[in-house]
Amino acid sequence: MRRLLTLLILLAALALACNTLVPVAITETPVPLPTATPYPTATALPTATPRPTVSPTLATPATPTDLYISPGDVLIHPEPVLYSGDVVSFEVFAHDGGHKGLSGFPVAVYLGDPAAGKELSQVRAGAYGLGGRLEATFTWVWDTTGLAGAQTLTVVLDPTDEIQIGDEDTANNVLTVPLTLLPRAAEPPVEQSAHWLTSESACCVFRYISGTAAERDIASIEAAADEAITFVEAGMGRELSSKLTFNLINRLLGHGGFASDTVTISYLDRDYAGGGLENVFRHESAHVLDRQMGGTRPAVITEGLATYVAGGHFKYEPFAPRVAGLLAQTRYIPLRPLADDFYSSQHETGYLEGAAFITYLVDTFGWDRFATLLSAFQPAPKDSAMLDAGLRLTYNKGLDELEADWLASLGALPPDARWQTDIADTIDYYDTVRRYQQADDPSAYFLTAWIPDIEQAVRRDITADYSRHPAAPENIALETLLVRAGRAINEGDPATTGRCLEAVNAVLEAHGDFAADPLAHDYLLLTRVALESGYEPQRIALDGDSAVVTATRLDGSTALTELKLTRTNGVWRMN
Ligand SMILES: [Zn+2]
Repeated sequence: MRRLLTLLILLAALALACNTLVPVAITETPVPLPTATPYPTATALPTATPRPTVSPTLATPATPTDLYISPGDVLIHPEPVLYSGDVVSFEVFAHDGGHKGLSGFPVAVYLGDPAAGKELSQVRAGAYGLGGRLEATFTWVWDTTGLAGAQTLTVVLDPTDEIQIGDEDTANNVLTVPLTLLPRAAEPPVEQSAHWLTSESACCVFRYISGTAAERDIASIEAAADEAITFVEAGMGRELSSKLTFNLINRLLGHGGFASDTVTISYLDRDYAGGGLENVFRHESAHVLDRQMGGTRPAVITEGLATYVAGGHFKYEPFAPRVAGLLAQTRYIPLRPLADDFYSSQHETGYLEGAAFITYLVDTFGWDRFATLLSAFQPAPKDSAMLDAGLRLTYNKGLDELEADWLASLGALPPDARWQTDIADTIDYYDTVRRYQQADDPSAYFLTAWIPDIEQAVRRDITADYSRHPAAPENIALETLLVRAGRAINEGDPATTGRCLEAVNAVLEAHGDFAADPLAHDYLLLTRVALESGYEPQRIALDGDSAVVTATRLDGSTALTELKLTRTNGVWRMN
């Protein structure tokens, strides 16, 4: 029951998530990780330890036919390195080699040899996350205070031999996991002293981590939230019944927004998913107001409504000409299959179509009738059936008829090249963002996102899971390219968007080899020069032989500095 509850909570989080998700089938094999070493975000770090990581879907030559675990099947958090004093979590991926539908069996993690009896924790495995991956999730079970250096963990599936059929060979149930705890003194000082802070504005409560961009910008964040909530309350004709709580985290997860009881928003300078803060606040608070009404709705309406009320998905954007662009590019997804498989459909397309369809309903029949529709939905086996029945009740027209009317109205619009390009670039951009996350930061990819209970994190003052993240020069170079691509979309500069996305995709296709693309290679060189000078790049603008790198200092100061660099005889130098 508890597992089910956890899964439901997670599904709710992902389902409501606004700036999240796009579904790629879970069976897709992630692009292998490049061999970048994690770059320490401080000046005084020793060589980083190899990162324990996973490719759970990779088949081995002789795949066992019973329950088993293989090297790489344990993911350790926080990533990518551990320091003494970290409170550590594990995701253990068990394989049901005999396809017996095994679930609910115990998994234990031991410090050292199980025979020595130092069990850290034991939990039961189950389907986890949107992809339903079979795993045992150990959240904050190992407090490493007082430990340092090389450690060995042992993971044992079904240690009490509960499974009678489907686990014939118990020898393949055991995995030894070596890892290194770096000394506490090696952790960047700002991370060592990191703790949760709280502030309150007229509309909202904010929880954020000390020493981060959120702390630096909290006054403008508060103002943006107050403004967004006033906007949404006016748009929906309702008021929030109580203050909203926003958790501002210092690493990107998914597209930067997850809503459950509280709303978690990624707030960082190198936000390579590019969502505008105002838009995220509007979208997430629209969800909260929507939920205040109670009742059930198809996901395409839930997400469409939040997008409609916010005036765009990631930024302000007119919906109709962008859907017309989808139609022209044969990227349009008919509403029935979209409704039935909303979160597995192309993410940006689904949100846009939902918002555009609602715009059509409101513009044609008025807001009041749309508000009636919101309370007209009845549970049905399929979301398309729920949608169809609700529309018939409210508008005396079914889904197919209304969709045909709507598409006819879109067909009458004059073609708009700007927004056609915008939607195509937006889809390519976010598909590339997700591809990067799958390859280089799988704990950020929405299907496999590591989002432990933030309430507990705040209570226990655990911050590393929401702040530390892969930040090798290679990560920074690709992320700054994505940042540049995202800004170019907003600037209406498709050539730059296309070039930057091409560079990122070339490197990902080459398994992390930056020689695959000259622009990517320049970004990596510029990143290295900045890092060597004590700066962490957040944005890079390159123009021929000159570049401007907007950076924070590696010593933990979050003030942004503009560095100017020039290339002479093929070598980048600071001016
Ligand atoms: Zn949403």
